[in-house]
Amino acid sequence: MSNCIFCRIVQREIPSKIVHEDDVGLAFEDINPQAPVHILVVPKRHIESLDMLKEADSSLIVHLILTCAKLAKQKGISSSGYRVVANTGFDGGQTVSHLHLHLLGGRAMGWPPG
Ligand code: AMP
Ligand code: ZN
Repeated sequence: MSNCIFCRIVQREIPSKIVHEDDVGLAFEDINPQAPVHILVVPKRHIESLDMLKEADSSLIVHLILTCAKLAKQKGISSSGYRVVANTGFDGGQTVSHLHLHLLGGRAMGWPPG
């Protein structure tokens, strides 16, 4: 999708600080970090949101979640803890319509979210 900002990041049309890449996904630093570690993990294929996932995408979403866990280890936040978030739709606070997992850590986070 040429007008999708995360597709353009995947295509290297927009610069980003990439921390991981494989056949399925890309991980890069959030431009407006909400925690000392704030990484976005996205599928390379354009999928609008969690709501659009199909059964056939099961291995894809598991892969992206495991990527978050691996990156948490690499960033040294596994033992202190972290949060993985998929904001979905308007009430979920989704602002970019390309599925992404937020990996947040490096500070204690409250619950429930605002
Ligand atoms: P969400 O509100 O859950 O859709 O999250 C979108 C996230 O994308 C926000 O945390 C933004 O800071 C982040 N973001 C938007 N544009 C960029 C960009 N060009 N590079 C990195 N992160 C971005
Ligand atoms: Zn996209």
